Amino acid sequence: MTPTGRTSRPAALVDLLITPAFPTPLVERLAAGFTFEQVQPDVDTARAELLARVGRARALCSTGADRIDAELLDAAPELLVVANFGVGYDGVDVVAAADRGVWVANTPDVLTESTADVALLLLLGTLRRAGEGFEHVRHGRWKASDPGAFWGVDPGGLTLGILGMGRIGQALAARVAPLGMRTIYHNRTRLAAEREAELAATWVPLDELLERADVVSLHVPLSAETRGLIGRPQLARMRRGVFIINTARGALVDEAALIEALGSGHVAGVGLDVFAREPRVPRALREHPGAFLLPHLGSATRRTREAMMRLCLENAVAVLRGGRPSTPVNEPRPDRARARARR
Ligand code: NAP
Repeated sequence: MTPTGRTSRPAALVDLLITPAFPTPLVERLAAGFTFEQVQPDVDTARAELLARVGRARALCSTGADRIDAELLDAAPELLVVANFGVGYDGVDVVAAADRGVWVANTPDVLTESTADVALLLLLGTLRRAGEGFEHVRHGRWKASDPGAFWGVDPGGLTLGILGMGRIGQALAARVAPLGMRTIYHNRTRLAAEREAELAATWVPLDELLERADVVSLHVPLSAETRGLIGRPQLARMRRGVFIINTARGALVDEAALIEALGSGHVAGVGLDVFAREPRVPRALREHPGAFLLPHLGSATRRTREAMMRLCLENAVAVLRGGRPSTPVNEPRPDRARARARR
């Protein structure tokens, strides 16, 4: 806990409660004049710790690991804004927040390119069996060169199915065009024709994407609508030998069904940055040679993480100063917001 800054409010109140590990000098600079506390409890005590502290907070910088639901919002009568550190805000009940006059903001755009790089890394790594090759070298099993070993699949000529052609999906489409991959995509809303032409991407219905793609890459947000979007029936529709890449959210996929499909060879390989119950990764995935796995590091470059920290803090501070966040994902009910301002 690091309270700093000047304030004339009662000591019990804190302007900014921060759960991601932000460097103190950065917070001091961007939130100059506001008090703040950093909470970094371990995973098991996180919820209790947050519930205990949020009651005194006016702004909260949170991560996807924090569940910001009605219970937590009710425990936070002073709260004006939840500034989520990340573009995916599936951990925040944005409607409950709006009903209580609380802004929710996220950190879009600044992490698009880094995350698309990791999607490409997983795509190539999975096709080219890079995980298996790396293990082979690391564990000293490479004894002789074998021209028949580690045969992978060339990306050129394959069809990539991008599910969720938003910022990151489009950045991935731009990356795979030079590899000679064909891109089909599915969104609820079709892109403008000029954008489709720029990306050489063709919109198809979801079932067609599942049936035609050699590689399926997931880029939709996690929501009530998309949870379990890829289950047994969807996996069964895919071609035998399909590759699945996921840098979006683990819960988009029925993990048990995915493990079965990998085990049967129906799915040839998976490249995963995200899992249904992070940081738990099922043993069957960890031990499968066709699984190329990363610990949710899609946005983890210095430049991107620093930009995310800045945007997250700026969103919180904008509301503390009486303004609105630059990247909001909800609109607080005005009657509730006014009531809060008078408090
Ligand atoms: P975005 O720009 O909002 O794109 C999401 C796309 O999904 C939109 O094009 C949207 O189009 C589509 N979509 C939403 N619901 C859909 C549905 N039910 N069926 C089909 N398409 C649907 O978001 P983004 O910035 O690209 O980020 C995507 C996700 O990546 C985030 O939500 C986050 O969970 C994840 N992410 C992970 C990492 C990491 O570290 N691994 C880093 C950044 C982001 P329509 O609305 O037209 O359907």
